This record gives sequence, structure tokens and C-alpha cells, in this order.
Amino acid sequence: MNKALRKAVIAGNWKMNKNRAEAKALIAEMTPLVKDAGCEAVICVPYTNLETALEATRGTNIHVGAENCHWAASGAFTGEISAPMLAEMGVEYVIIGHSERRQYFGETDATVNKRMRAALDAGLRVILCVGELLDQRESGITQEIVSMQTKVALGGVTEEELKRVIIAYEPVWAIGTGKTATAEQANEVNHGIRTVVEELYGKKAADGLTIQYGGSMNAANAEELTAQPDVDGGLIGGASLKAPDFAAIVRAASR
Ligand code: PEP
Repeated sequence: MNKALRKAVIAGNWKMNKNRAEAKALIAEMTPLVKDAGCEAVICVPYTNLETALEATRGTNIHVGAENCHWAASGAFTGEISAPMLAEMGVEYVIIGHSERRQYFGETDATVNKRMRAALDAGLRVILCVGELLDQRESGITQEIVSMQTKVALGGVTEEELKRVIIAYEPVWAIGTGKTATAEQANEVNHGIRTVVEELYGKKAADGLTIQYGGSMNAANAEELTAQPDVDGGLIGGASLKAPDFAAIVRAASR
């Protein structure tokens, strides 16, 4: 697998953090620190910060994403935000299927697939999250779980559309826990995902697909994780809320 065929992407997932003033300050601090990045830098922010983030990143190399979108373009879905609404604002990326959505908000592989469809139809780039629970890893079914999540999520996605998809392998037991998968574990699962994508779309598409690792990635472990042959950057939660830490991860993933 040739890493040069695909871009490394470091994406911050701010989750439900930062008010508008804090968002502005964090982006202002981060901007000079990542301006020479040798990988793509993305911040996925709460809906209430999208406008602020778009404004604050204008003319910089920082891309902006949302943390979710609904599968319908519009309609009676109180409290939801649609993919065309995000696209119309100028948002470029959206996270789909994060484990916190699956765990706390009833997200299933089927609804992940519907949101994927909506996001691609709206012209967005998708960061698709997949990953196993601790008991699934302990039962030795990690690869089966992650393969199934990947296959269902990509149902109906064409090879051309796949160019706008990134997959983030995020073992659920490693998210926000301080427990990181070893570099070997991350690479092994990412390699398995790439193999599934190769079965579905062929070698060229699989070789070109960015597959991130996410789960307690930080300034200290980013270099080893992102150096793995099948790890193309990361999805970063906690460490993306501190500009120096996020910038250090961006530097580690720069090639
Ligand atoms: C995440 O939210 O996707 C994540 C990886 O969080 P953390 O880095 O805090 O584990």
C-alpha cells in the first residue's frame, strides 16, 4: 500500500464544546501553528460555531466540518440540520456515524447509510466513523464488526463518490478514555478496512482512500500512529480543543 497515493487528514472533533468567543480564540491561536501543514487540517465544530469557524478560517488552510447531518433535505424533523443546509453555508466536511451518535442517539448502520447518502448528494465530504466496542474486541470480532459497518455505510456509494469519503477507525473503548489502540492494532484494522473497500471498489479506489485512526490520539502518540502504512491521519477529540496539541498532531502527520 502506497501512502503517497492518498492525503493524510487530521480532523478535530470539538463535540459539544466551545462557545462562540472560545471558538474564535481557539481558531486564532491555531491558525499560525498549522499554516505550514503537510496534511489537511479540518475542524468539525458544533452547529452554533459553524458560521464563526467559516469566518475565522477564511483565507487559511483550515477546513470546516459539522459533526452530523440529517438524512432528509428538509421537513418535519424538529431540532435537526440537513446536509444541504450545511453545504449552503460553505461547510465542506461532515462526520457521520460517530460512536457517541450510535451510543446515545440511536444511530444504526442503516441511518448512517442514509446520512451518508444525504451528505454526498449535497456535495459534502464525509468522515465516516466505524469501530468496535470493548467486548467485541475481546470476543475477537473486531474485523467483522468494522467490515459490516463499512459495507452498510457505503451501500449505494459510487466509486466517484467514494473520493469524497474518509473512513475513521475509532475503537469505542479508546474514545475519550486515554486508552489508545497500539500502532499495530490501528494499522491492522485500517488494513482490514482497506481490504473491504478493495473488494467493493477495486485496488485503485482502496489505495486512494484516506483511513484515519481516532481514539485518544495526542501529541505524544500521533507520530507513531500516523507513521503506520495504513493510517492516514486521525480524528481527534479532546486534543483538538488545545491549539498547541492539535498543531503538534498536524505536524506529526505531515509528510
Ligand atoms: C473522537 O471523538 O472522535 C475522539 C477520537 O475523541 P478522543 O480523541 O477524545 O478520544
